[in-house]
Amino acid sequence: MIALDGVHKWYGEYHALVDVTADVRSGQVVVLCGPSGSGKSTLIRTLNRLEQIDAGSIRVNGQDVQAAGIDIDRMRSHIGFVFQQFNLFPHLSVLQNVACGPLWVNRACREQAYQLASELLAKVGLGQKERAYPNQLSGGQQQRVAIARALAMKPPVMLFDEPTSALDPEMVGEVLAVMKALAAEGMTMVCVTHEMKFAREVSDRVWFMDRGSLLEQADPEPFFERPSHPRAQAFLSDIRRA
Ligand code: ADP
Ligand code: MG
Repeated sequence: MIALDGVHKWYGEYHALVDVTADVRSGQVVVLCGPSGSGKSTLIRTLNRLEQIDAGSIRVNGQDVQAAGIDIDRMRSHIGFVFQQFNLFPHLSVLQNVACGPLWVNRACREQAYQLASELLAKVGLGQKERAYPNQLSGGQQQRVAIARALAMKPPVMLFDEPTSALDPEMVGEVLAVMKALAAEGMTMVCVTHEMKFAREVSDRVWFMDRGSLLEQADPEPFFERPSHPRAQAFLSDIRRA
């Protein structure tokens, strides 16, 4: 579903991605972890070309995301991306927020778009909030709307960049529960997260990054029990101490 091959990226002089090669099979859940500034956001953002790369190749669902002449907006709209900040449209109701992708991008008919939005809101536990506006919802609820909005485009892959990091602690669980349910349905997911319990329980693979390099790709159990790279060992012991 995702194949990165020899990917490099520089921000000016700074080598932000160093020879990253990895792949994600259909239905796999990958948790991408590593210290702050290690390049996790940069890497996940290259997958839908929110960041350009300078060398290597990236394919998502058979499409070379760097290919010249592709419709970038269209490609992007079909890869689900959930950010730390929810970025909902404040002037639209929750239902309209979820329906807008199908309506504006896919030119779906209104009835079908709203029907789908309604089903997705029920699925993320917000069936009662269709008419609410984003500022009437808690952070956890808004993030669940953002997930429903991404799902409305029926993406083959969902990307999450620290989806719970901006939330009050009591709201983290409800968002992780929605992600866990998606994983159980077989969604292909790449999740940048510091939630190591989630990583351990839900992921199929853990990727550990530091200083732009993907230093370790492992199954969760061996990664957490016996990380092989010294920097992964240090990262895990820092997290455990915290
Ligand atoms: P992470 O998500 O792991 O915290 P990032 O991918 O955001 O890390 O950043 C990796 C490195 O690249 C950091 O040193 C950061 O300062 C740098 N960086 C990120 N975005 C830019 C940018 N637009 N311009 C220059 N440097 C950047
Ligand atoms: Mg980041």
